[in-house]
Amino acid sequence: MTALLASGTVASAAGPVHVEWTYCPDGLDRDRWHTAAEVWEHHRVVIDGEVMPRAPESQAPEVVYTLRLALKEAWTEHTVARVTVGEQDLLLRQSGDTLILRQAPRHRAHLDFEGILASAGMSRGNEDSWDEAGRQAVAAGLTLLREEERALLAGLAFERHPGGDVNGRFHTSVRPVVQLFDFAFQCPRGFDGDPGASLPSGTSTVLHELGHAVGRTPTIEALRQREALWRYLRGFWSRGDPFPADPPTDPADHRRRVLELQARLSVLAKERAEHEAAVARWEAGPAGLPVDELLARGLELDGKEGELRRGWGAMTPEEMLRVLDDLEGAPLGANHAWRLLLAHFRGGRAAELEAWTRWALGQDIASQAYAIVPGAIPGPTAYARTSVVESFAESFELYHLDPEALRAVAPEVHAWFARGGHLSAAAATPVVLTDEQRTTGSPQPESP
Ligand SMILES: [Zn+2]
Repeated sequence: MTALLASGTVASAAGPVHVEWTYCPDGLDRDRWHTAAEVWEHHRVVIDGEVMPRAPESQAPEVVYTLRLALKEAWTEHTVARVTVGEQDLLLRQSGDTLILRQAPRHRAHLDFEGILASAGMSRGNEDSWDEAGRQAVAAGLTLLREEERALLAGLAFERHPGGDVNGRFHTSVRPVVQLFDFAFQCPRGFDGDPGASLPSGTSTVLHELGHAVGRTPTIEALRQREALWRYLRGFWSRGDPFPADPPTDPADHRRRVLELQARLSVLAKERAEHEAAVARWEAGPAGLPVDELLARGLELDGKEGELRRGWGAMTPEEMLRVLDDLEGAPLGANHAWRLLLAHFRGGRAAELEAWTRWALGQDIASQAYAIVPGAIPGPTAYARTSVVESFAESFELYHLDPEALRAVAPEVHAWFARGGHLSAAAATPVVLTDEQRTTGSPQPESP
């Protein structure tokens, strides 16, 4: 049986499209290769950098077989085929009437999946479903990333799932996860990348999904912050309602309120310290204030502290200060945390957190910075034409796996990735809502 997998279909006549085919023959299908001369009737042939003026009688059958594929499939310009026949990896490109073939003995370096995953700050879920094909593909995909890209994706989790009718999926409904399905590993003898430094064939799927993840960097960052914020807020909630009966509704009041309270607490602490010292002096000898005055002063301070305590639940002044310090260091800033705390305790604005999350999940640099790069639409593959988000993922994959093909089909897209356009776009996308966005966020939880 021969399996045929394609990340795209054959191009229409609309323009040059990179189409990547991976053939998984179990053996040589003799119908496909025995007339090598036919290839030379229509093409110039370059094998391993050398122009071959005629079909050499002695040409290895797997080479002829691979060249014949180009005739069989009516490919367009910039087609690439990857074929593993026997112990050879062969890569075929078509540029006009020239067929360019590179070959190398089949060789897969064994990669340290656990080590690579851990050093990238990533994890895996679905423990029982992992197989060696999945482990090697993820490891290979991660080693191809730039350091800055890996840093953007720290915290990402991978899951291996049996079955499925797609290669993979990236989704962010709870936390950022790349899921890999059996479909991506149908070609166990196939390869990605270059012959001689070949990678397991599932690597292309891993890179495609990592492309989605990079495109959704603002979402990942927002999820990280949301998680940090929830963790932080839970600390407050466990202490009970810490708020005055009449909380500020304008977040700009927060800073003023913090400063006022800090000043009051600081005066109170000073007065309390002076009072304690006066009590100590009275205890040490007859000098100092009369006892009645000391007691009255003590009651007055108790009253002031009580007033603050009543406003701030059951907290002591020290706890109040700790709350204020915590708020100053809150993820997304004190005002945001303050507002969400109010939302929780007062109930009236809880929807804001949900809107923020919805908005964050919908962010994608692909549909913003990338979409305006010439060649991004329709994108470098047929599948890229389904949406600009898929175009981004396909381009990201090709940039790492087959930069030569991306440069040939969409040179400006290649240049954009090479100069870190995606990294700048990720850094420039904010993760905190404006007032307007707070009510207009729309969900976009996953990309196939
Ligand atoms: Zn996709």
